[in-house]
Amino acid sequence: MGKRIFSGMRPTGRLHLGHLAGALTNWVKLQDDNECFYCIVDWHALMSDYADSSKIKSNCKEVFLDWLAAGLDPEKATIFIQSHVPYHTELHLALSMVTPLGWLERNPTYKDQILNIQNKDLSTYAFLGYPVLMAADILLYKGEAVPVGEDQTAHLELTREIARRFNNFYGDIFPEPEGLFTETPKVPGTDGRKMSKSYGNSIDIADEPEVIWEKLRTMMTDPARERRKDPGDPAKCPVWDLHKVFNKNAAEKESLAEGCRTAGIGCVECKKSLYGHVMTLLEPIQQRRAYYETHGDEVTDILREGAKVAKEVAAKTMSEVVEAIGFVER
Ligand code: ADP
Repeated sequence: MGKRIFSGMRPTGRLHLGHLAGALTNWVKLQDDNECFYCIVDWHALMSDYADSSKIKSNCKEVFLDWLAAGLDPEKATIFIQSHVPYHTELHLALSMVTPLGWLERNPTYKDQILNIQNKDLSTYAFLGYPVLMAADILLYKGEAVPVGEDQTAHLELTREIARRFNNFYGDIFPEPEGLFTETPKVPGTDGRKMSKSYGNSIDIADEPEVIWEKLRTMMTDPARERRKDPGDPAKCPVWDLHKVFNKNAAEKESLAEGCRTAGIGCVECKKSLYGHVMTLLEPIQQRRAYYETHGDEVTDILREGAKVAKEVAAKTMSEVVEAIGFVER
């Protein structure tokens, strides 16, 4: 059945349209024809939030609700929380034995984050090893393909290198996973920059319709359109960038662009159309979210079952690993 797929997300709180269009939509498609493992990586969250871990639990719950709402289906995919499967930490240790320090020190993401994240002290042993834990997450399930954003390219290359090095020492255990890159690598936020919680420009999957409309209504448009009668240029408008992602009606888009260039329509009309498309996408998702919000027991069962299935697969890989290393059999 298709490929063994693994992907994870850190529990950073409620997810936004960038997560949905940039990752989850693809994950939902993949679960039909592949054996998918989707994991909320709470240990990874602790790496940057160790000084204040108070939000990790509630963030896991929010992410999980957003995942189920977006259509990840426990009947089709194994959905679970990383720390519920202790083998992640065990394989992380095993892989760390063979990972040269230089590989981690050269990792561009590491260098970048150490320089740019100033409100947290990330100069820890664990943070340097972030890609080793990520490699363990993927290899524990013998993941062959990993749907990721392009920002993860360097990490995925490290995963392949670590797998290769481990295989060289101990025999052919791990596949070298390939990246499955999304068709929508950059969903823009309400200010035109990449949608991100840290920029305060996001529209959350769980936002109330009125909140979504308010966020869209107050968006900047082409600065040349000061007045209704001024013509505009869609290429300079962040609202248009969102139409490109969320409006699938080519004829309507053409007519909106023409209306903008000729001042035939106002910006509010264009924003209303965008709102309609976003809500058409979100309505069934928000309905599912509302269902799971009031069925906490069902959510807990899904998590338990996911961890159980994941543990069985992970235990099998770990047995092979310790046997290949040459430890006393378990
Ligand atoms: P992490 O990968 O550390 O969990 P994020 O929360 O930034 O980091 O992203 C999770 C996933 O969602 C990644 O695959 C990322 O590429 C995708 N994603 C996040 N924001 C956007 C966006 N604005 N546009 C497209 N994809 C996004």
